[in-house]
Amino acid sequence: MATIPDVQAGCHSAAASCPICHGETSLSVDNRHRPFCSARCQMVDLGNWLGERYVVPGRQGEQDEDQKPSTAEPDEQT
Ligand SMILES: [Zn+2]
Repeated sequence: MATIPDVQAGCHSAAASCPICHGETSLSVDNRHRPFCSARCQMVDLGNWLGERYVVPGRQGEQDEDQKPSTAEPDEQT
C-alpha cells in the first residue's frame, strides 16, 4: 500500500519560506496571504502569472501518445 503525502496539509510546521522573496512566512490559516509572506509578494506572484512569466514544467514536446511495442517483428504491409 502506498501512501501519498499531502503537500498541502501534511506539513506539521506552519513556517515556510515565501516563494517570492524567500523570506519567512506562515502557512497557517491566519495568514491570508499564504503561501506568501505579505500582500506585496502575493501581488508579485499574480503579476508573474498575468505576465505569463511562469512556464508550466513538463508536458512540453513530450507527446508520446502512440507508444510502439518494442518487438523486433518486421512490420509487413499487405
Ligand atoms: Zn515574500
